Amino acid sequence: MPCFSAEDINNQVQIPASGSVRHPLMRVNLAKITRNAEIVAGLCRRAGMGVMGVTKAFCAEPAIARAMIRGGLDWLGDSRIQNIARLKEAGIETPICLLRLPMISEAREVAALADMSLVSEVETAKALSEAAASQGRTHKITLMVDLGDLREGLLPQNILQAAKIINEMPGVELYGLGVNFACYGGVIPTTEKLEALLALAEDIRRQTGLPLPIVSGGNSASLYLAPGGIPNGVTNLRIGEAILLGRETSYRKVIEGAFTDTFTLECEIIELQKKPSLPDGLIGTNAFGQKPVFVDKGIRKRAILAIGRHDVIIDGLVPVDPKAEIIGASSDHLLMDVTEVERPLSVGSLMEFNVQYGSLISAMMSPYVTKIIG
Ligand SMILES: *Cc1c(COP(=O)(O)O)cnc(C)c1O
Repeated sequence: MPCFSAEDINNQVQIPASGSVRHPLMRVNLAKITRNAEIVAGLCRRAGMGVMGVTKAFCAEPAIARAMIRGGLDWLGDSRIQNIARLKEAGIETPICLLRLPMISEAREVAALADMSLVSEVETAKALSEAAASQGRTHKITLMVDLGDLREGLLPQNILQAAKIINEMPGVELYGLGVNFACYGGVIPTTEKLEALLALAEDIRRQTGLPLPIVSGGNSASLYLAPGGIPNGVTNLRIGEAILLGRETSYRKVIEGAFTDTFTLECEIIELQKKPSLPDGLIGTNAFGQKPVFVDKGIRKRAILAIGRHDVIIDGLVPVDPKAEIIGASSDHLLMDVTEVERPLSVGSLMEFNVQYGSLISAMMSPYVTKIIG
């Protein structure tokens, strides 16, 4: 599904006949996002690093990107060129890096719109070089090295040769060396891994004479190392989740002082009744082809909310009311056990959820979820 333009997102704040705002509804708290960005930027600054704020989880909605920038970031990054186009169209002047390795077929667009990209193929660098040179531009390249996570990046023994070849290309400037962790292999970044990154950066500097100002030590999973565990010379982290949801992602600890409730999803109760906890009848498969398992808890008070798997990824929804429990979901319905919830509920009441990363992305992309950004 494509991301939506600013107009699309604003158009989703439609007023139904009842006069209230349509649900499900995602409230985005910009002040909390700015505060989180400030905290993360401060933590990184003390470790000698700048921060690239990553905007892909919210389709690069410019108002949210600006809230991040206000926290003191020196770069933005996004994995999709459409999102970078959106940020540029909105007049954002902070330089922007393409995070997913560019497709050769989009090289012209990347050279025209992005200030830098992460690259692991000499062929791709060549395409960017030709595109940028023909446009009279200089496109920055951060070369990616794989230090064990086995997603993108050249193996360490192949880095130097690639760097030398790219350094000879017109239209591109070899500007950084970067690494990614905790994505495919789940490899946790460590001080030793970052020292290996620094040693490679030094090799490239020695052999090419380039200053290589960016040494990018990973994503939100590297943040747990800051400030003490980041070796001197790592100059950048690429941070999305920690700014948006307030946690580092290696051990999922809350960053001191950061907000984890920056995004709140509100959903409406459409049925509220007492029902048995065991289904009655021969049990086949549910709407998603799985055979469900049930525990008999007797008669329970159950709420059905008007949100389902077609709207968002349900697995990352966390009820704000600690006594409410998600017991299941189908395409259009979310089933909750609300027996223990103390506040009075009725049909038409709203229930709130905080979101984990998957739910955040899916809600921000979903045309069925109204966004209120403020
Ligand atoms: C998405 C992405 C990031 C940001 O990851 P978070 O875990 O959200 O901080 C960093 N680097 C690359 C290459 C990415 O694709």
